Amino acid sequence: MAISRKMVLHFPGRLVDRPIVSHLVRAYDLDFNILKASVTPEEEGLLVLEMTGKQDDYDRGIEYLTKAGVKIQSLSQDVTRNEERCTHCGSCVTVCPADAFQLESSTKKVLFLNEKCIACGLCIKTCPPRAMKLHF
Ligand code: SF4
Ligand code: SF4
Repeated sequence: MAISRKMVLHFPGRLVDRPIVSHLVRAYDLDFNILKASVTPEEEGLLVLEMTGKQDDYDRGIEYLTKAGVKIQSLSQDVTRNEERCTHCGSCVTVCPADAFQLESSTKKVLFLNEKCIACGLCIKTCPPRAMKLHF
């Protein structure tokens, strides 16, 4: 029976140019739907995708990714913002690959659109007052 999972793959800089995803498709007979792709300022590659295939192939594919040094994050995690801490500095707006932050021009405030968030965790490191939190 085929299974389907959404996830975020974090590629360290040394792996960004390697054909890891195409190897997965060929070697493990998995299908992909890429929902988002970006390279962060620290040259980390980030891929949000839905992976579909037979359970065995899926498990072997995940093992291959982990051994190759790719960090895999499930999308079941939740991200929240502590509104009292947020200073509306805007640092998170450019790092978010999902456009989950929006600068409201009338108030100059940064809105957090939780429904767009894919829980990649990038804003957590970037936010100076540590207003963003990832819940496992
Ligand atoms: S980086 Fe942090 S403090 Fe700055 S706007 Fe974003 S959530 Fe608010
Ligand atoms: S965790 Fe932060 S940077 Fe990542 S998608 Fe959610 S709001 Fe954007």
